Amino acid sequence: MMIVMKETATEQEVQAVVEKIEGAGALAHRIRGARVSVIGAIGDVEQDVGVEALGLEGQPGVDRVMAILKPYKLASLQMTHGEHSVLEIAGRKLGGDNFALIAGPCTVESREQTLQSARVVRDAGATMLRGGAYKPRTSPYAFQGLGQEGLRLLAEAKAETGLPIVTELMDISDLDAVLEVADVIQIGARNMQNYALLSEIGRCGRPALLKRGLSSTLDELLMAAEYILKEGNPNVILCERGIRTFETAYRFTLDLMAVPVLKELTHLPVIVDPSHAAGRRELVKPLSLAAAAIGADGIIVEVHPNPDEAICDGPQQLPTEEFAAYARAVEQAAALAGKALQPREPALA
Ligand code: PEP
Ligand code: MN
Repeated sequence: MMIVMKETATEQEVQAVVEKIEGAGALAHRIRGARVSVIGAIGDVEQDVGVEALGLEGQPGVDRVMAILKPYKLASLQMTHGEHSVLEIAGRKLGGDNFALIAGPCTVESREQTLQSARVVRDAGATMLRGGAYKPRTSPYAFQGLGQEGLRLLAEAKAETGLPIVTELMDISDLDAVLEVADVIQIGARNMQNYALLSEIGRCGRPALLKRGLSSTLDELLMAAEYILKEGNPNVILCERGIRTFETAYRFTLDLMAVPVLKELTHLPVIVDPSHAAGRRELVKPLSLAAAAIGADGIIVEVHPNPDEAICDGPQQLPTEEFAAYARAVEQAAALAGKALQPREPALA
């Protein structure tokens, strides 16, 4: 159930509702909107009925009590009364009229490669630095990432450039190490339905970038986000990264329709990964421009100082020397959708 408070409701009135819900054995999730507070009472189906029986309608400060129509409750746009969330992560705003350009190498390979990539993307006005230390590889014989050494290099890049770090977590046992450096924890497409991992990210509270599974529907993506939200972590960014279709002419089919449709379904920010969808760099810029123009809240893109020698995903990584021009083009496309690059005053090269 969803309890919509009146605009005039006091803090004590909101607290009284929260206590009643918790007293009935359900979880009370408070969402502070620009005008009104909404409290989501989340339990299993039986508990929902229990909340209904509490008679919250008529309680001081309560405007309305409504059923949440979607199976994903906290992620639904209904939950925020149709307001899209703006997340604040490491001093950067994500969502609303802000556009996030998250860029960096597929994989942290060396100190030089990581720092060089970080400087180039920072100078071009990127919002955050991406880079994998733990890599989900199709082949168990392929390079699996530098692990802790990779995290150390990301920490160095963050200290030098000031860029917040996005890096992937695959195994709960690496969580503490990843928490040392990650401002945003990436959950890769292959782990989108790893529910134990999602719940743990929810409990740790660190912002999460949740990639859509290779063959997942939008409902499944939103249910996965719900696992994180349910544990009390409101900072979830959704990412469309291409899905499997019958088409074999390219690696994945970038489902750009997911962007406006997710915006109808959820208040969470939605970004796009053109690199992993395309699999080759010629497609990365056109897909990025389309993603920005269609209203994505950001892009996560792979950049490498020498892509032809990259250990992983070389063919799709943009060379660093092309990144500044790419960033300017993406910035213009984002402006078509009314969004401006975050931070708003990029340190231009
Ligand atoms: C990545 O971003 O490094 C990655 C492996 O992406 P995905 O999980 O979308 O394949
Ligand atoms: Mn990659």
